[in-house]
Amino acid sequence: MTTSDTDKNPVPRSSRKPVLTHTSPKRLLNPASGFLSGYTHTLNPYVGCAFSCSYCYVREMPVAKFRGAPWGGWVDIKAETAAQLGRELERAGRKAPVTVFMSSSTDPYQPAEYEARVTRSWLEAMADSDALQFVMVQTRSPLVTRDLDVLQRLGSRVRVSMTIETDLDAMRKLFSPAAPPIAARLNALRQLAEAGIQTQAAVSPLLPCSGEFAARLAATGVQRVALDDYFRGDGSLGRRTERLGIRELYVRHGLEAWYDREALDRVRAELEAQFGADLVRVSQEGFLP
Ligand code: SF4
Repeated sequence: MTTSDTDKNPVPRSSRKPVLTHTSPKRLLNPASGFLSGYTHTLNPYVGCAFSCSYCYVREMPVAKFRGAPWGGWVDIKAETAAQLGRELERAGRKAPVTVFMSSSTDPYQPAEYEARVTRSWLEAMADSDALQFVMVQTRSPLVTRDLDVLQRLGSRVRVSMTIETDLDAMRKLFSPAAPPIAARLNALRQLAEAGIQTQAAVSPLLPCSGEFAARLAATGVQRVALDDYFRGDGSLGRRTERLGIRELYVRHGLEAWYDREALDRVRAELEAQFGADLVRVSQEGFLP
């Protein structure tokens, strides 16, 4: 990336703390649509995300573009909202069973969750609700293992989808340096699987990886894999990713062969050899309940 690209697309150092603000939104459950139309609703316990991945498509959405501050530098916390969520679930459940994707535009287990515990309180509200049919918890943080007890209460109504885009921590440091190390995520998946929680590895977006990646995922005991890339999964056939200047990052590090639709096909074959074709789901299908 050039200097101007870096300014446009900042990746804060992990030592830089985001500005935290408590908010009281009128509505927590949002109707799901588009890529997530397999669900009735989405839930985002935070607005903003301290993990600040370079390729994050939310950077290109109005919530980030018009904030007037760099993505990753601020996080709004929907604190003290568990009772409100319980009421919203009850209301929504009168129409149809509620299926939730948490979260679509933030990470529900980003660092603010250590103290704020909004995600935990929402999982508790969902565990207590007869209206909740299913929730997919999408995260890249091992902090999710703190809430094993609540996840176990949810039982077959929950699946944890852990983002693991590569097995090479050097790639994690290049593309999302503020996100948790790959080894810690693999270990979290193993703990979840051993605790009987339904699991998925979200290789999304696929980053340059080693030939051992599929075997390393399989060794965790994870049940299935969702595989996606910029060209299928960024909501605009790769155009958002182009605008973010991610191609230059690949070029600068000699990784152009991975900025290509065919990279997914190569890794898909390796994953299917480990898991079987039925358990490797590509793009939108991978994120269905
Ligand atoms: S963890 Fe997800 S929401 Fe957060 S910056 Fe990364 S891609 Fe975006």
